[in-house]
Amino acid sequence: MDKIIIEARVNELAPRDENKNVPFLPSEIVRDAKACFDEGASILHYHGRSADGTPEHAAEFYLETNAGIRDLCPILIHPTLGYVAHDADAMGRFAAVEEMMKHPSTAPDFAPMDVGSVNVDWWNPSDNSYDTTNLIYKNSTETLMHFADRIKHHGLKQYLVSWNVSFTRQIEAFMKMGVIPEPAYVCFCLTDGIMLAGHPGTPEGLDAHTVFLPKDRNIIWTVVNYKGNLLLLTEKIIKQGGHISIGLGDYPYTEFGEPTNAEIIAKVVEQARALGREPATVEETRQILQMGEVRVAA
Ligand code: ZN
Repeated sequence: MDKIIIEARVNELAPRDENKNVPFLPSEIVRDAKACFDEGASILHYHGRSADGTPEHAAEFYLETNAGIRDLCPILIHPTLGYVAHDADAMGRFAAVEEMMKHPSTAPDFAPMDVGSVNVDWWNPSDNSYDTTNLIYKNSTETLMHFADRIKHHGLKQYLVSWNVSFTRQIEAFMKMGVIPEPAYVCFCLTDGIMLAGHPGTPEGLDAHTVFLPKDRNIIWTVVNYKGNLLLLTEKIIKQGGHISIGLGDYPYTEFGEPTNAEIIAKVVEQARALGREPATVEETRQILQMGEVRVAA
């Protein structure tokens, strides 16, 4: 079977109250990037965080972190545009990537496009109530076309996220328009616990994503479970030829005590190998996704 692309999602906006190993600061993210790379991850996804864990959108954070990662290992870098925590206009949300693209030592490899909009309020399962009531993850069609234009300009790879079938339908529409080139790399976002915005992190939730993939398009898919335990699904994903995006950013994995991101990556690699799939190296990941050279503005 094909090699498997394993992405480390090291922090998102996760707190440290259940697992203290969530990295916040650049030096902590760089350390985790190298450790996850050493265990077999070929992509790193991270969010800028301040020392107290609040979101940090300053370009300097990303420049320092990317340069630190590039010094240590060639893992492919997938930064965030700030998710719902960065509710700026399209240009504002992409501003940090524009800064990263000014030098080879800070340029990422991917830029994300969540291809649709969705309510992302925090559900409180123990109280049957919402802890927030006004969090909308807005990605207008115009905004997405701006992102696609800038991603193409810089020679980056689109990292497409589908939270539900309507997102996949917009991905198909964008492919018909030529806004999304093939092969498309699509991350199916399952959600559990305090997040209801995606499909449930169950076999049925994943099947509902894959069954709606357009059959006549070249789409390579990976899976996350935001706020849920993706290890419950990794065997199915590995057997179906999918790829895996996992880490402490999504779920603290306290079933194993207080594991590090690298320890979670090691578990996935071990399972994939046992099922006949070797982890893709960075170069193999670039080949699978047909990634070109990024164009840095000199
Ligand atoms: Zn993220």
